[in-house]
Amino acid sequence: MAYNKPIPDPEQYITKPFWDGCKEGKLMLPRCTTCNRTHFYPRAICPFCQSDSLEWVEVSGEGYIHTFAVQHRAFGGWAEETPFVTAFIDLKEGDRMLTVLRGVDPLKPEDIKIGAKVKIEFEEASDTVSLPFWRVVE
Ligand SMILES: [Zn+2]
Repeated sequence: MAYNKPIPDPEQYITKPFWDGCKEGKLMLPRCTTCNRTHFYPRAICPFCQSDSLEWVEVSGEGYIHTFAVQHRAFGGWAEETPFVTAFIDLKEGDRMLTVLRGVDPLKPEDIKIGAKVKIEFEEASDTVSLPFWRVVE
């Protein structure tokens, strides 16, 4: 089935390295060369120390569930997937990413554990865009 949900513009200059990484199956994050912290979402300056000295690095694609919610209502293409689970992922390298969580049963939220280990995966949404999702691996 064709991907029928919103697709980002990968040519936005600040986020382009992130989307290029997704296309190649790699999680790329900006890292501040002043305080050495990675952050998400990509920004022109470091959100921790306000330095504009940033570089892009490939990170592990590993993390942990910080928190989650079961979505029973949605719009557009997402409406067809309800119920589904959204989660905030604590990245192994620091900071946090919002995702639609894979590998869980939205009808059994009691089985989803805060702190569960997750790994990133990429889904092709178009010829030029792949989107990151996280999957529970334990
Ligand atoms: Zn910094």
